[in-house]
Formats: sequence, C-alpha cells, structure tokens
Amino acid sequence: MKYIDKYRQSTWAHYINVRFLKDCYAGDINRPCPSPDNPMGSFEDFKKKQYREPNDYDNGWKNLLLEEQDHRCCYCMRRLNSTAGKINYEHIIPRECKGNEGLNEYNYYASHAPALRDLVEMADVFAMKKFTAQEDIEQEPKMPHITALANLTAACNGKRNSLSTYGCCCNNARGNKRMMPVMLMPNADENVNYDANGILTITDNDGTLDTIIQELNDDTLKEIRAVWARLCQVQTDLTTVRSFSLRERIEWFKHAYHVTDFTSLPTEVRRYAGEIASNGSDFYWNLLLDYDWFYNYYLTKQ
Ligand SMILES: [Zn+2]
Repeated sequence: MKYIDKYRQSTWAHYINVRFLKDCYAGDINRPCPSPDNPMGSFEDFKKKQYREPNDYDNGWKNLLLEEQDHRCCYCMRRLNSTAGKINYEHIIPRECKGNEGLNEYNYYASHAPALRDLVEMADVFAMKKFTAQEDIEQEPKMPHITALANLTAACNGKRNSLSTYGCCCNNARGNKRMMPVMLMPNADENVNYDANGILTITDNDGTLDTIIQELNDDTLKEIRAVWARLCQVQTDLTTVRSFSLRERIEWFKHAYHVTDFTSLPTEVRRYAGEIASNGSDFYWNLLLDYDWFYNYYLTKQ
C-alpha cells in the first residue's frame, strides 16, 4: 500500500461527480433519480460507461482513479492492466452506511483521512439538500460518499489469472466493516512497511487492519516481495524485463542471489524466473512482473 493523493486531481474529480449528479437532478430538481443516497442505484448508474470510460477515455473516472494510483491495486500494488483481469472499485466509507451510525463512521474516516473530510460527505446528508437549479450542485464542495471519487479506489480482483482458486483476494473479507483508510492517510508511506522477507507491517493499526494485513501477507505475495527485495540489488531496466529470455532471467536471479548454480535456489524462488511452471506457462514470471512496484520500493529502502 502507498499514499493515494486525492487532492492532485480533485478539480477534475469534482467535475465528473457533479456532471453525474446534474444528470440525476435533471428530470426533477426536487426528486433526483437515482437519489444520491441510493446505495445500489446511484453507484450502478455512476458506473455506466458514459461516466466511467466514455469514448474520450481519458475523461472518465476509471482513468482518473488509475492515474491517481499509478495503475496499481490500492492494496497489493499489483499492476491494474489487462492481465490483472477485472478491476474492483472499492468504497473506503462503505456505501451502505447511513443515518446516525453512518455519521459515526464518517467521523472515524474523516478524522484519519483529510481528503474524506474535505471532499466527501454522507450521501443521505447530501440528499437532504434542496437545489433550485442543477448548476447549484457545482457549489457543493463535498460529494455524496456513494459516488464521491475521493471515496473510491481501484483494486485488483485478487484472482491470479490461473491456478484460479489459489491466492489472496484483495479485501474480499471486509464487507462493510470499518477499516482504517491507510492509503488516504498522508503518513501512509512511513506507516506501511515491507521487510526483506516480504512481510507487510502497518505501524499505525487500531486493530481494524488485521484482516487485510493477513490477506496481504499470504505466502505467494510474501514470496513475490522477497524476490523483488533480492532482484532490486541488480540494476535492471524494468521496461525491458518483460522481453527477457529464460536465460536472461536465470542470469538475473543468479546475480541477485549470489549463486553460480541456479538449481541451488529453492523452488519458491526459482519458479518466479519461469523455469518451473505447472503448465509450461510463464504464470509465475508474469505474476512477479505485475508486482514490479516493489523493485523501486526495496531499492529505495537499501
Ligand atoms: Zn490487489
């Protein structure tokens, strides 16, 4: 995990959010359809192609979220490209939150994440506002949490392409449970640490992060990070590695692990070079490369 700056593109995010809300209020300014506090309907409509990825793709909110996150999963840092499969959109403040309990939850999230405090409010609070014209919505600094882009992040779907039942699912276990919004807290990059064995720790954990920490410390993810902790010790141009031959990969690994005999390395390392693949594919090698964010992470930690 790393810090996601929701302020950098907040003007653009606000524009997209307002454009959607204006459409909802277009039919009847007193009866928006769907209402901004409709937990399913509002978000499902916002997810429609015309808002998420319109023909001018760059102007949709999918692209905005991806740019904010450098095209990485907000939890595990996997690349969010075609090989990662479907993208999950995560609500930091769960979309079902409402009423007094909702306000209580909002206060918790807002006290940790300035962007939620400044740019988001509870959708049922927003829905109580009365507007005289659609243009009035432009003056609202805070967007309803069900569609507010400051409350949304992109995550991988957790499945690792093949070996389909195997591996972590980023945050599938959360449901509506409270979870400290680590990636929206400005101290995230000091708060979240990975050691040389690939183990993730979060210093500032009030207990609400135990489940996600456990998920992100599953064996495969730890192995991958531990391999990057080694590989980063050999200076490599990451833009060229995808075209590495098997021989080049093996040389890279041998260098990084200071061995002359590649077969002396344990299976949990060797398979990431693509040499040992259950079905003859480069499954582990491609998976490793999806997590190349950790190359620079460990490089700067040295
Ligand atoms: Zn992920």
